[in-house]
Amino acid sequence: MNNEQLLEKSKEHLWLPFTQMTDYERDPLIIESGNGIRVKDIYGKEYLDGYSSLWLNIHGHQKKEINDAIKGQLDSIAHSTLLGAANVPAIELADKLIQLAPNNLKRVFYSDSGATSVEIAIKMAFQYWQNKGVSKKKKFVTLTNGYHGDTVGAISVGAVELFHRVYGELMFETIKAPFPLVYRSPYENEDEICNHALDELKTIFEENHEEIAGITVESMVQGAGGMHIMPKGYLKGVEQLCHEFDILLIVDEVATGFGRTGKMFAVEHENVQPDIMTMAKGITGGYLPIAATLTTEKIFHAFYGEYHELKTFFHGHSYTGNQLGCAAALANLKIYEEENIIKQVQQKSDFVSQQLKEVAKLDHVGDVRQLGLMCGIELVHNKETKEPFPWELRVAYETTLDMRERGMLTRPLGDIIVFMPPLASSESELQEMIQIMKKSIETTTTKLALSISN
Ligand SMILES: *Cc1c(COP(=O)(O)O)cnc(C)c1O
Repeated sequence: MNNEQLLEKSKEHLWLPFTQMTDYERDPLIIESGNGIRVKDIYGKEYLDGYSSLWLNIHGHQKKEINDAIKGQLDSIAHSTLLGAANVPAIELADKLIQLAPNNLKRVFYSDSGATSVEIAIKMAFQYWQNKGVSKKKKFVTLTNGYHGDTVGAISVGAVELFHRVYGELMFETIKAPFPLVYRSPYENEDEICNHALDELKTIFEENHEEIAGITVESMVQGAGGMHIMPKGYLKGVEQLCHEFDILLIVDEVATGFGRTGKMFAVEHENVQPDIMTMAKGITGGYLPIAATLTTEKIFHAFYGEYHELKTFFHGHSYTGNQLGCAAALANLKIYEEENIIKQVQQKSDFVSQQLKEVAKLDHVGDVRQLGLMCGIELVHNKETKEPFPWELRVAYETTLDMRERGMLTRPLGDIIVFMPPLASSESELQEMIQIMKKSIETTTTKLALSISN
């Protein structure tokens, strides 16, 4: 198809995720290629990939080692089922993941997206108690403002009002515990915020623990809920309460895993050992849909026995453990060692936090939140009162359109600009992106603030 046909057919036949299609029709974008941390549209315009193609990409596009690994795997086999049969790269990848993950995790259950890895975690935790004969433990505790993907199970343990409101009657009920939000908190300091949230969680556990199967939490940072970082000690406190009340800790590392926050997994910031841990996004370097749910031998054992005992975990997907994806993931993880990626992220995140100080000074920047290379910049109308812009103005969305004009891509979350560059971004590329963000925030917020006062 030529460019004109591509554009026309995209408007005629595509329905894009998380997208109001009138927005797409007004400002369409069709990507044709990518190289390093840049992608190119069909007209040849280049963009810095400021959101890692939605939080996935690690080493840039067209990374030779990953390309070669996929091509090499293609000469053996593209896919065979994991139902009742193993395959070579799935075994090798499982071994690798177990080496990298917290010590207590010993089993890998594959799927193909973050949401499915969470569905699996929920069903696994639920059936664990059933198989053990503790039939009352059926409920889940979730954190306010959490996000775990978009399937019905995953939205049930999620709590982003805007995304989930309409599906209320479709979702199973959960018990909501407050996330320790720092920005706009009524409490004095992070310790107080942390302790209050843990106290409330403790009360919930005390009153309901006999019925609670598990709690789901994003690891250290609530991503889609607005890039909110947990105060020090919170995740550790959750782990301790889980032990005290015999509740399974399900930690979602889909966004934070694979070095994004400066550790291979964000649980390492608090030395936490979850009972179940989910991972996806960065696992293949942003190449192919692979996800994994890791768990302990203790949980695995509750499913282990002869067939007639009916303890089997009856769950699977057609493409579970896909060979091409596992080969890509293995090549991806090898680069972490060869290029010392985790150390690099730590250095680059120091650089970014220096650079973001300039952004924080802007008139309409209320808060800058960062852990590793996971950053959110919250735009407000009034910096002192933290009063937001009227939501219909879509200040962050408008800002990202301006950034696109200037050659950088990202997607906002409400009034928050997301900055999640590929881990491979160089300091000069990081600087270039931050300069574009700064310029666009300045221009757009000034314009919109003026439109309000007029
Ligand atoms: C993106 C995300 C998911 C969902 O992953 P998909 O691959 O989009 O299904 C789940 N949990 C967290 C924390 C995420 O950021």
